[in-house]
Amino acid sequence: MAAQLIKGTEISKQIREEITKEIQKLKEKHGIIPGLATILLGEDPGSKVYVGQKEKACNKLGIYSERTDLPSETSQEDLLALVEKLNNNPKIHGILVQLPLPKHIDASNVIYAIDPDKDVDCFHPVNVGKLMIGTGRFLPCTPHGIVELLRRSDITTDGKHVVVVGRSNIVGKPVMNLMLQPPPGGNATVTLCHTGTKDLAAFTKMADILIVAVGRPKTITADMVKEGVVVIDVGVNRIGKTPEGKAILAGDVDFDAVQEKASAITPVPGGVGPMTITMLMKNTVEAVKALCN
Ligand code: NAP
Repeated sequence: MAAQLIKGTEISKQIREEITKEIQKLKEKHGIIPGLATILLGEDPGSKVYVGQKEKACNKLGIYSERTDLPSETSQEDLLALVEKLNNNPKIHGILVQLPLPKHIDASNVIYAIDPDKDVDCFHPVNVGKLMIGTGRFLPCTPHGIVELLRRSDITTDGKHVVVVGRSNIVGKPVMNLMLQPPPGGNATVTLCHTGTKDLAAFTKMADILIVAVGRPKTITADMVKEGVVVIDVGVNRIGKTPEGKAILAGDVDFDAVQEKASAITPVPGGVGPMTITMLMKNTVEAVKALCN
């Protein structure tokens, strides 16, 4: 039987409608318009697309957006000065520095310089620490998007065995943290796999919920999952181009084969992807709400 499709595009739309109402309320009650600043260094086409999408989402939802595009040879000193200026700008409630940064810049220094109260990406160590102990105001965008995808599809993580493949600071580790928080958190038993894992399939076969974020197509095949598994495919891999020159995307999971065994699965595109920017918008609104409390 084919799996239930977890439709990120629809769920994201639902959340954006909720955010729009919250923004309206903030405007009416407190006279504040949430503001997001984005900084892009260099000409990387992928990064340009992502920053453009964030700007577009702000405009659609009524969030004030301030974008700064800088040449790739910008010095770390100048970048840090800009971050400091935005930290002190009352119109700006969220600051996002698009990664990756050019090699001559130490990304950690830049992330550490962002005011944790404006760190809407949830990359600052203060926010990472708070996430770990379960007191975070901001939740990291992609992992939070995954939580919402499951919650709004009526899939509980409570008492389930969640297996995460990939241990990045952006997806794998934070989603592990969210899944293992006590109620009302994920309350799951969590296993985290990576390239050092011996016999990956032995672990993925045990998963009630499998979250895959590795960046390699078809890492997970049908023989690696059990019947009824819920699959969240975070991967975004460009596997070719259409005759019109548009990128063809695939996830990390062999979708066609795995969906025959899964009870629910996210497609790529249209699964996790649309949620990430939506949760960034949500964090920007949360940053304002914290000021109003
Ligand atoms: P990353 O930083 O490159 O990390 C990949 C992780 O996967 C690493 O921990 C690596 O293990 C592990 N890995 C790689 N191959 C493996 C294998 N064969 N078996 C087990 N583990 C393996 O990647 P990321 O930033 O987390 O992103 C992962 C994917 O998700 C990419 O395709 C990215 O584009 C996508 N992504 C999508 C969104 C979205 O909004 N949809 C957001 C973020 C990322 P080691 O640590 O041992 O090297």
